[in-house]
Amino acid sequence: MSRVIAIDGPSGAGKSSVSKRVGAQLGFLHVDSGALYRIMTWQCLLHHIDTANPDDVAAFAQTVNVTCLPQNGAIAYFVNGQPPGDAIRTPEINAHASPVATVKAVRDRVTAWLRDLTRFGDLIVEGRDITTAVFPDSPARFYLVASAEARAERRRKEEIEKGIANQSADAVKRSLLARDAIDSTRKYAPLRKADGALEIDSTNLTLDEVVQTVIDALPKEWKRGRA
Ligand code: C5P
Repeated sequence: MSRVIAIDGPSGAGKSSVSKRVGAQLGFLHVDSGALYRIMTWQCLLHHIDTANPDDVAAFAQTVNVTCLPQNGAIAYFVNGQPPGDAIRTPEINAHASPVATVKAVRDRVTAWLRDLTRFGDLIVEGRDITTAVFPDSPARFYLVASAEARAERRRKEEIEKGIANQSADAVKRSLLARDAIDSTRKYAPLRKADGALEIDSTNLTLDEVVQTVIDALPKEWKRGRA
C-alpha cells in the first residue's frame, strides 16, 4: 500500500514549497492537486465554456482528459500530450478556478485522478480537500495557514519571479481572499481543517522550520533511515 501525506490550506500558505521539500527528503512524489482544477478551468476557458454555469461546466468536465506521469520527483500532467506550463497560473485562471472547483462533477473527476496516483508509489498531496475528502484516512494530515498579508506577499513575489504578472500586493490579496471565500463556503468538500489534522501557522516560520515540523509529526516508520 502506498503511503500518502496530505496537506491542505488556503492559497499562498506555503503548501507547494513545503510539499516539494518534504517529498524530496522522503522520496514521496509531490502532487499538486490545484493544478488539476486549474487545468479544468483552462480547458473551460479555451473552449468558451461559461464558468458561472455549473451545468455547462459539469458536462464539459467529462470530456477533459489528463495524463498523469511521475517525472523528477513529482506527478506531471499532460493535456493532449503537452504540459500546460504557466498557462494555468495566470490571474484569469486564478479568478475562474474557484467557481469551476465548486462543481461536483469536476471534483469527482479530479478526486478519481488523485486516488489513482497511489499506483505510482508514496505521495505527498497538497490542496484544499485532501485531508477531508480525497485521502481522509491518511495518518499524516496537515493544515497549513499564514496571515493574509504573508500569503499575498509570497504569491506576488512568485508571480513576478515567474514573469506571469506584476500585480500590486493589494490586488493579489483581494484575489486570494476571494478564492478562499468561495473555497471555504462551497457545498462540496469545502476548505476546512480536518479533525485530527495538525495545524501549522507558517507566518513567522522559515521554510526549513515548517518542513521539520511536518517531518517530526510523521509516523516513525515512514522516516526510518531518512531525514
Ligand atoms: O492550489 P491552487 O491555488 O493552485 O488551486 C487553485 C484552485 O483550485 C483553488 O482556489 C481551489 O478553488 C481549487 N482547489 C480545490 N481543491 C483542491 C485544490 C485546489 O478546490 N484540492
